[in-house]
Parts: sequence; C-alpha cells; structure tokens
Amino acid sequence: MISVKEAQAHLFDLTTPLSTEIVRLEHACGRVLSKDVVADRDQPPFASSAMDGYAIARKVVAVGDIFHIIGEAAAGHRFERPISADQAVRIFTGAPVPEGTQRILIQEDVERDRDKIAVGNDLDPNLYIRPSGGDFKVGHVVKAGIILQPSNIALLAAMNTCLVKIVKKPVVALISTGDELVMPGETPLSDQIIASNTYGLAALLENNGAEARIFPIARDTLTSLQYVFDLAQDADLIVTIGGASVGDHDLVAEASANLGMQQSFYKVAMRPGKPLMAGKIHNRAIVGLPGNPVSAMVCGHVFLVPMIKKLLGLSNVLPETYETVLLNDVEANRARTHYCRAVLSSDGIRVAEQQDSSLLSVLVNANALAIREPNAPPAKAGEPIKYMQL
Ligand code: AMP
Ligand code: MG
Repeated sequence: MISVKEAQAHLFDLTTPLSTEIVRLEHACGRVLSKDVVADRDQPPFASSAMDGYAIARKVVAVGDIFHIIGEAAAGHRFERPISADQAVRIFTGAPVPEGTQRILIQEDVERDRDKIAVGNDLDPNLYIRPSGGDFKVGHVVKAGIILQPSNIALLAAMNTCLVKIVKKPVVALISTGDELVMPGETPLSDQIIASNTYGLAALLENNGAEARIFPIARDTLTSLQYVFDLAQDADLIVTIGGASVGDHDLVAEASANLGMQQSFYKVAMRPGKPLMAGKIHNRAIVGLPGNPVSAMVCGHVFLVPMIKKLLGLSNVLPETYETVLLNDVEANRARTHYCRAVLSSDGIRVAEQQDSSLLSVLVNANALAIREPNAPPAKAGEPIKYMQL
C-alpha cells in the first residue's frame, strides 16, 4: 500500500496539461488564462473628472472666489479650448478635463448664478482629477496561469480584449458501477439504492473547472463494464466508482485490464478510500474510486481535484493544509492517514463522532477534513491538528 503523497505523485505522472482554445471574453470566466494579455492602451486614456462639478485652472481657491463658465465637458464630449485662471468649465464624471485644468470643484461646493460660480464654505480639499493611465498603462500584463474571475474579465474588457486564449476544459467521464444502482429519479427496486456519487463528484469537478459527463451505470459484469468504458474513451480522465475492492463482484480492475490498462497502483494507505486504483488506458488516465459515498467524495477532494488542476496547467494543485486546535478528544489512529469529517469554527475543529464512509449526512455537516497521520497517538482537546477545507 502506498501513501497518499505517493499516490498523488503517481496520479500527476498520469496527467499532462491540456491544450488551449480561444473563446470570447464573455465565455472566459472561471477558465484558466493560457497566454499573457498585454495592454496596448492607457486607462483612462486621458485625464478625466472624478465628479460632477466645474473644472478650473487653479489648485488653491478661497471662499467667495468667482469663476466664469465658458462651456461644458461631458463623458464622450471634450471641451476643446484651454481654460484660464478665472474661468470654469461645467464638467461631468468621466469627461476629459480641458487643457489647463488643475482642479474640479464639486457642484455641491459652489453657488451658481447663471454663467458664474462662487466658491462656498467647507470646500472639499480633493482635486478630483483622475490622471491619464491612473488605472493601468500600456504594457500592463494580465499573467497566464490564473483562473479568470469576474474582476479579471472586467479588466481584460477595459484593455479592449475580446478574445482570450484559455486551457481546454478537462472532460471527465464518471462511471458508476453496481447492480444495486439506479439513477436519481428512477424507481429503485427493493434491493436497490440511488447512484449518488456520480452526481456529487460531477458537481465537485465542475466547480473546479472540469466538464463532467455522467455515463450510464455499468452493471457488475465484464461485458457491461467494457461497454461503458468504450463509450468513455474520448474523455481526458475516466473515473469509475465502486467495484474496486476484491469482492467477487468487483470487476473494475479485470475489465480495465482486458482493455489494456497499465496499472499504476492499487490501494492507498488512507481512510476512507483504501481501494483506490489508477492507471492508463490508451494514454488516458483512469482512476477507480471506492464506491462508498464519503470515500468517493474524499478521494475526489484529495486526488481528482488536484488532477483537474494539473490538467488545467495550474500550479499549487494539492489541497492546502492548515493547523488548528482540536475541540474534542480523538482516539489513536491506525496505519492509514485518516481524513476525519469535522466541523471547523473560529475556536478550532470538532471531529464528528460518526466516521462511517457511507454517511453523506455527516459529510454534509462537515466543512473540513481533520487529518490524522498514520499511527498517531490519541489526542486531547486543545492539541494541534492538521486539516483541509471542504
Ligand atoms: P463497492 O465499492 O462497489 O463495493 O461499493 C461500496 C458501497 O458503495 C456499496 O454499499 C455500494 O452500494 C455503494 N456504492 C457504490 N457505488 C455507488 C454510487 N455511485 N453511489 C452511491 N453508492 C454507491
Ligand atoms: Mg459494487
């Protein structure tokens, strides 16, 4: 049995970053930028007014000073002539400031009488001129390798970008296996349960930038498994769920071996999730997850999400781990790393009492996995503990 770290390293060996595609900016949010974008303009491209008010050619003014209004500048419509010391131009937010402007008097700070303004009391000391290039200048770089957020999209738009090069979405085939399974919405027979893992994993992987495809459930026969594997050959990553142990009906390893899988490893020293299997079929990574719902989801967080990140060409692909204090006592751990469902709060972390790997209701109430190292001795409330967030 290999360690979690070793398993992650093997999985990364099976995974090569994907190629790129070009999409319109409005379709790029959440995607990984694969080529630097460089600004070829300044923003704003001219000094502009930050307020509605009056542009004047002086910085220092006193209460009662009078200025003559000689024209107007609005956003998109500059006032073409320079202004002199006793003149003012009515100006609105975003308008280019006229030549000679040193300050904008905001409209609340002056008294207007037809084409004159007089400076009032209690003057706002800000000058309210936004310099040319004050937001970004020609040559400003948005670096490749980031996941584009709405604010990045806004910045790229301001840079006059309409097409961006991004990494293709990893397509993940999710295959549930088991005679006992039906899809949500179907009518289960008395011995059947609903295939929940495919749905939970699809959601997790889509949240992390993948395109998840849920395939028909493979039955516990070699024919059925091989049939569904064949359907999934176009995916960048094939994930099977269940049938990975050594029971008589656990046929995933045999079916994938029949299709030419080169196995990378089988079994990881972790709880939940021990019967994890991985390899390559026709140059594509295949990962066989255990069927218990919590095992499948924990393996999703610990192994599949990092693989998706690697396929997307991201750096720092492993789950971040942090340290906090235990809020309850925990027993000694056995030989496998234990990812305990736990609730993290500002006081520390409380490990859930029930750790059975079939209990989705416990997973739902957890927001973290407390990580117990192999053979860790019992630990008391107040002691430090490592965790990762869910
Ligand atoms: P297996 O790994 O096939 O032995 O399955 C272990 C347990 O997980 C069994 O109780 C299965 O019924 C259950 N199981 C397997 N696949 C799924 C699935 N896709 N959704 C929910 N439960 C599953
Ligand atoms: Mg099964």
